Amino acid sequence: MWDFSTEPEFQEKLDWVKTFLREEVEPLDLLFPGHSAPYDFKNAKARAILKPLQKIVRDKKLWACHLGPELGGQGYGQVKLALMNELLGGYQWAPTVFGTAAPDTGNAEILAMFGTEEQKAKYLQPLLDGDICSCYSMTEPQGGADPKQFICAAYREGDEWVIDGYKWFSSNARFASFLIVMAVTDPEARAHSRCSMLIVPADTPGVKIIRNVGTLANAPELDDGAHAYIHYDKVRVPLDAMLGGPGEGFRVAQARLGGGRIHHAMRTVAKCQKAIDMMLERAVSRTTQGKRLGDHQFVQGMIADSVIELHQFRLMVLQTAWVIDNMPHGAARTGISMCKVAAAKIYHEIISRAVQIHGSLGVTRETPLADMFMHMPNMGLVDGPTEVHKVGVAKAFLGQAVPAPGLFPTEHIPTKLIEARKKYAHMFEAAE
Ligand SMILES: Cc1cc2nc3c(=O)[nH]c(=O)nc-3n(C[C@H](O)[C@H](O)[C@H](O)COP(=O)(O)OP(=O)(O)OC[C@H]3O[C@@H](n4cnc5c(N)ncnc54)[C@H](O)[C@@H]3O)c2cc1C
Repeated sequence: MWDFSTEPEFQEKLDWVKTFLREEVEPLDLLFPGHSAPYDFKNAKARAILKPLQKIVRDKKLWACHLGPELGGQGYGQVKLALMNELLGGYQWAPTVFGTAAPDTGNAEILAMFGTEEQKAKYLQPLLDGDICSCYSMTEPQGGADPKQFICAAYREGDEWVIDGYKWFSSNARFASFLIVMAVTDPEARAHSRCSMLIVPADTPGVKIIRNVGTLANAPELDDGAHAYIHYDKVRVPLDAMLGGPGEGFRVAQARLGGGRIHHAMRTVAKCQKAIDMMLERAVSRTTQGKRLGDHQFVQGMIADSVIELHQFRLMVLQTAWVIDNMPHGAARTGISMCKVAAAKIYHEIISRAVQIHGSLGVTRETPLADMFMHMPNMGLVDGPTEVHKVGVAKAFLGQAVPAPGLFPTEHIPTKLIEARKKYAHMFEAAE
């Protein structure tokens, strides 16, 4: 069964979302710019505008759509979430207004999946209510892409875990009420059973932010860096602060990252679409050499390539979302990695072309393109580098490949021809 249509009732919701974003959320982006702004709970003016907007979204039954109804979400599933995210991703504040901001989404998911009732009440509920934000603290200064290199440890002392070590690029740590920290609890165990997850309230003594690090995407005048370099200096938490069982850190991390990656890919569709819309408008607004930009074939080529690439990517994301909704758990793993790799690539291509078509204006900060452009390198790193995902994709397909039965490949024409001649030999003989 193949069906590319959207249910009319849900399309109505999407139409409403589109208008709401333009009329109500875009002003927040303009008034409170910067990637960290939506996480800053101390900004009273921004919160005063935000809270009523969040209520409208709740009343419309569009709050926290990544979650099932038992957790206050709508249970729409990933395909509908993709259709929503490909609108929300175009606005900095939209995920916060709609209760789907990372890393809180992923943290909420693992709290829901692995948390005890106490942990859910203490951390998950206020997160779902939009009253706090959280941090996911896994990457270490000596290496992020290979968790086997992690050394930040947690050891037991009496009825406490003591966390000792450093973490790098813990996004939003300075705004977070709690941090989910991956720590080595059994250094002698097999590689994937060495770590556990611990929930650390941000005000626990010993949680020391060394500095907040900015990326190229953080315009210094707007944002002093969202990604914390943290020293967990003998941080003590009770034994029941563990999320999941001892040694289950990798399992919990995997459960978290899959959702995060595909949601990110969905939002990338929105950003690329915005860049294409801008390209198109510019192409029919400006003239050079006596004709519109869009009448020059080079520009037409850039537009055509962008539209085609985004269409391919969007279908891939939607199909992967469909697999998550309809196939057994884990079936979408390779598809999610494919989306992750493709997201970084097409984002790079489309945003670069949009900047080029806008000429000098494109390289200023007077359009959203500059921010999108500066975000480009992050795309191939966040949630794991492109190369690591490519390796995973290749291994998944190589794992299904079967060696050729003989000296030549199965598709070797002379070999196949011998078989074909044998199959119809009787007919050739009859015809002679
Ligand atoms: C914007 C942003 C936000 C982030 N937020 C968080 C967060 O909230 N919490 C958190 O814990 N982390 C976060 N990270 C960290 C992110 O997960 C890491 O950057 C990522 O896992 C890569 O680790 P690394 O930076 O240490 O690079 P490294 O591990 O040093 O890798 C560097 C490069 O080496 C190459 N490479 C690495 N491994 C392989 C391989 N197996 N095969 C081939 N080539 C390879 C790739 O080119 C890779 O880019 C964030 C990163 C960014 C950019």
